[in-house]
Amino acid sequence: MSAGGPWELGDVPPMPPLEAASNQFCCVCDNPAAHRCGQCKSGHYCSTACQVNDWPTHAILCKDFLRLERPEGNFQRALFFPQREPLPRFIWIPYSFRVADGEDGYPRGFKELSTDLKAVRELLGLTSMDSGDFGHIPGTHRELHPSIYFFCKNIDKDDGYFYYNQSIATSTNDGATITQVLGDRVVLLLQSMWARLKEEPTEETIERLSDPRNVDITMDDFRTVINFFRTNESRVPIS
Ligand SMILES: [Zn+2]
Ligand SMILES: [Zn+2]
Repeated sequence: MSAGGPWELGDVPPMPPLEAASNQFCCVCDNPAAHRCGQCKSGHYCSTACQVNDWPTHAILCKDFLRLERPEGNFQRALFFPQREPLPRFIWIPYSFRVADGEDGYPRGFKELSTDLKAVRELLGLTSMDSGDFGHIPGTHRELHPSIYFFCKNIDKDDGYFYYNQSIATSTNDGATITQVLGDRVVLLLQSMWARLKEEPTEETIERLSDPRNVDITMDDFRTVINFFRTNESRVPIS
C-alpha cells in the first residue's frame, strides 16, 4: 500500500455542483464566498476554481459530514486523525455548559461551553494533559473567533522506526507527510478562548451565540486544518 493509503486520485468521486450561500468566506483563498458545496452544504467557495483546488481533500469527508448524526445530549463535532488508518473522520466530543451570570465578561444568559477534555485525553490514551500537543490556530470566520486546538500523544521516535500519521498524509494529499508530532490526533474548537463581546448583546444575539453548533468543526475548518498541516509542521516527502 502506498503511504497515502487507498485514497488515490482515481478514487476521488465526481465533484458536486456549487449552490448559493451568503455571508461566508472562501475556505481556500479567504475572499467573500457566494457559493457552498451542494452536497455537504458546509464547504464555502468564491469560485469553481477554489472548489476544484479543495476537492481532493474535501471529498474525503464531504459525504460523512452529511451522514454523521448528532448524538442525544451535549456533543460538539471534532476531527479525528488516526495514526494508523488511511482516512480521518468526524467524531463527537461531550461538553457541559453553565449559564453566565454577567459578572465574568460573558453577557448574562450566555451559555459558556466547556469541552470535556478528559474524554479527549481518554481517546488519545494520555495520562495527563501536559503530555499532549497544544498547538492552536485561529478558527475560520465566526462571530466569536474561537481557536482550533490540536491534541495528540507524542510517541518516542527513538526506537528507530519511522512513524507518521497516515490519515494526515492522506488528507494533505501533496506528497509529503509530518514527522514532528506522532500518534492519533484530535482537532476541535474551544469556546473558552472566544473573544469577549464589545457591545451589550440583545437577547436574540445571546441566543444565536449560545448555540453549541458554533463550536462544531465544519468542512471549512477541515481545509484550514489541512493548510496548517501543509505549512506549519516538520515534513518529509513520502517515498
Ligand atoms: Zn476562493
Ligand atoms: Zn462538500
